[in-house]
Amino acid sequence: MSTNRRIVVTDVRTMELREEPIPAPARGEVRARTTYIGVCGSDTHAFHGRHPFIPIPYMPGHEATGVVDELGEGVTTVVVGDRIVVEPTLPCWECKPCRIGSENLCENLQFFGCGYPQGGMADQFVVRADRLHVIPDDIGDLDAALIEPLSTPVHAGRIAGPLQGRSVAVLGAGTIGLLMLAVARWSGAAKVVVTDPLPAKRDAALRLGADAVVDAMAPDVAAQVRAALGESADVVFDCVAVRSTTLAAIDMALKGGTVVILGVPAADFELPIRIMQDQQIRLQGSATYVPQDYATAIEMIQAGAVRADDFITGRFPLTRAEEAFDASSSGEHIKVLIHP
Ligand SMILES: [Zn+2]
Ligand SMILES: [Zn+2]
Repeated sequence: MSTNRRIVVTDVRTMELREEPIPAPARGEVRARTTYIGVCGSDTHAFHGRHPFIPIPYMPGHEATGVVDELGEGVTTVVVGDRIVVEPTLPCWECKPCRIGSENLCENLQFFGCGYPQGGMADQFVVRADRLHVIPDDIGDLDAALIEPLSTPVHAGRIAGPLQGRSVAVLGAGTIGLLMLAVARWSGAAKVVVTDPLPAKRDAALRLGADAVVDAMAPDVAAQVRAALGESADVVFDCVAVRSTTLAAIDMALKGGTVVILGVPAADFELPIRIMQDQQIRLQGSATYVPQDYATAIEMIQAGAVRADDFITGRFPLTRAEEAFDASSSGEHIKVLIHP
């Protein structure tokens, strides 16, 4: 193969499979042959022109796994043939967050597969070697595709935690919500109640270990969640982050609970700040992950706490990437993957 095929989103709801020269790794970079790339909510939002921070055109594919094919100068941390998963944040390592181990919050953050010249939706991609995690031999390729998406709820659970013995609500039973449920269970939460408007997604949450599910469209959703928990929620993970879910989350957490926002909000809205002060509500944003979250995600997958069979519901070749995006935003899938 002398050229590299790459998906490029060229306009709102428009993508093309572009032929380009095979990219060469610069110093400190590697080139990898793609194995599987996940389609994420942020990909489909950006494709529809609704993502707040990803400009079009863009080269998608931040949930990337592959096999190292060529090393740039100075790379010693991986070898050719290593199976790798990308940690797509590209920190500067110079700013204050980078210096204190919060490189997910880098003041100069770039993001592989999100508004960056390289992404994983291609036959081959080039990425900084310091952003790679080697996939252990006992994790198969399909399971490995879940490491990046699982790391997001692992991070949210860790910064909101400890969850051991706690009453937890998870709002939204899409990929991130269902993985959040798995993290809450793994972390020893006493009870986990999941909400979603779609019956099929609520069924999936029950199948994957929720103690109870509640219709997110019910006018008394917060009261129903409190009833199912038997008390207020210690931690509510808002994986949707629209006005109705965040307001319901605050209601569930009264008094003294924590609301974690890990869904990507499409718009700003007003919060009941007087109640939040008076009832001591903690609002915690959560953005991506750091390496220790990848390590926990890998450990969870090795232990069978998250399995590809439960989560990966669609696979499409690069040539059918648009179908993969449509499937991913249809509400009928959990995780859709693309492969060359
Ligand atoms: Zn993602
Ligand atoms: Zn930085």
